[in-house]
Amino acid sequence: MRRSIFVTCAIVAAGAVLLSGAQKRNAAPSDLLSGIPSGKTRVVDMTYAINDKLPAWPGDDRTFEAKVNATPEKDGYFTRSFWMLEHYGTHMDAPAHFPPGKLFLDQIPVDHFFGPAAVIDVRDDVAKDADYRLTAVRVEKWEALHGRVPPGAIVVLRTGWSSRWPDQARYRNMDANSVMHFPGYFVAAAKLLMSRGVVALGIDTLSIDYGASKDFEVHRTDLPAGLYNLENLANVDQLPEAGAFLIAAPIKLEGGSGGAVRVFAILPNK
Ligand SMILES: [Zn+2]
Repeated sequence: MRRSIFVTCAIVAAGAVLLSGAQKRNAAPSDLLSGIPSGKTRVVDMTYAINDKLPAWPGDDRTFEAKVNATPEKDGYFTRSFWMLEHYGTHMDAPAHFPPGKLFLDQIPVDHFFGPAAVIDVRDDVAKDADYRLTAVRVEKWEALHGRVPPGAIVVLRTGWSSRWPDQARYRNMDANSVMHFPGYFVAAAKLLMSRGVVALGIDTLSIDYGASKDFEVHRTDLPAGLYNLENLANVDQLPEAGAFLIAAPIKLEGGSGGAVRVFAILPNK
């Protein structure tokens, strides 16, 4: 489905029919890929390195453990084994994370791991209100500037929360009643983005649902519809609001509810 949309875009562009600026910039990820070796394209790593000291979901006390199995001194080579939570650090939520979502991490169509980034910057709102949630009106404001969110897009909500990483207390921002306060999406915004045909919702916090959420209603909306989520994204401040292309490659964990993901943004080098 998405392939044919890209092909259509290319044909339309070749025919010099009017496209919005955002669509033009997003229409040629192949140019961005081929520009990587020459340095014309910049690659941003939107992934935090994994260790046992990252901010974790409350209650997740055992997060990550690595054990050395072979050392160069003793064995002539170096290997480790590790254990970690599926939802820890920069990770992907598979649809099966919230039933009736069905697909496990290894079953998500691989073409969904590639898409133009729609970066929605809400840092000003979040600075005033840690419980801020993205509204449908704010999505429409983005579209007024950059054109309609393209089908196959990966949405990145830029809240500024990553400035608190890796300070767990500040990142969770828990009050005296153990309720967390960090920003997220409103269901109405998620539904509007889903109507545009986006494949994923991403954020630079612990969850696409805001910290005070009790029922994870955004998870219950987008995952059963087949989308996936990207949480704890890094370096979102380095992306333009439109014009970057994302690659989100998760560990291929059979039956996984989610798992560690390496996320790259590619964008023209200015
Ligand atoms: Zn998760």
